[in-house]
Amino acid sequence: MKQARKHVLWIAFLVVAAFVSCLTAAGTSIKAESVNTYIKQQKIKPVGITTSVWNGFPKFDYDRGYGKPEGVVVHETANPSSTIYGEIAYMKSNYQNAFVHGFVDAGKIINIANTNYLAWGCGYPGNGKFVQFEQIEVHSKGAFAHEIANAAWYTAYLLNKYHLSANDAAYDGKGTVWSHKAVAEFFGGSTHTDPYEYYLKSGRTFFGQAYTMAQFYQLVKSYYGSLSNCIGGDF
Ligand SMILES: [Zn+2]
Repeated sequence: MKQARKHVLWIAFLVVAAFVSCLTAAGTSIKAESVNTYIKQQKIKPVGITTSVWNGFPKFDYDRGYGKPEGVVVHETANPSSTIYGEIAYMKSNYQNAFVHGFVDAGKIINIANTNYLAWGCGYPGNGKFVQFEQIEVHSKGAFAHEIANAAWYTAYLLNKYHLSANDAAYDGKGTVWSHKAVAEFFGGSTHTDPYEYYLKSGRTFFGQAYTMAQFYQLVKSYYGSLSNCIGGDF
């Protein structure tokens, strides 16, 4: 009798242990999924633009003239602990070294410099060609998806605003949608590779697979289609 009860207790223990280890595995394993698909399925909507232009930034025309950028450069701050407001404050006090037109995170798109004038974010000659914005590093699946939606929509919005077609520049250096990495490769001006690593790492961490500029471009294109067709967009 005593022996049988011991046996039952042992089986109960094994069942509970198996259950707990299952739960733990479910909690830690990440199903590989596409960030773009997640944005669509979750019906994540980009936020509107907060205009907070500071007049202290230098005002120089683009190569083609005032209000004539040739594309958009997507950056990432490479700072894991900064906030959007901290980055903006830092940029205003260090603009002589570098500044961009805007910042994006999970909840905000903030335009800080007049996009009709060039910015100093990717060196010569890219600065004379492109509108440029930075992404803040965010640290959760939801935040990353929201940030990507905001960044892709803002890119599409800028292309549409300046009557530029959507064209991924990564393959031939001729196009309107640029990573800082692609600018550095095709034009020089810096050796920066953002937002390549940030997309790779965040995609792997939160979605089980790398996020790429090629995927980002696909999202830009879908927003661009919605904007230029004036049908509002479904996501
Ligand atoms: Zn950059």
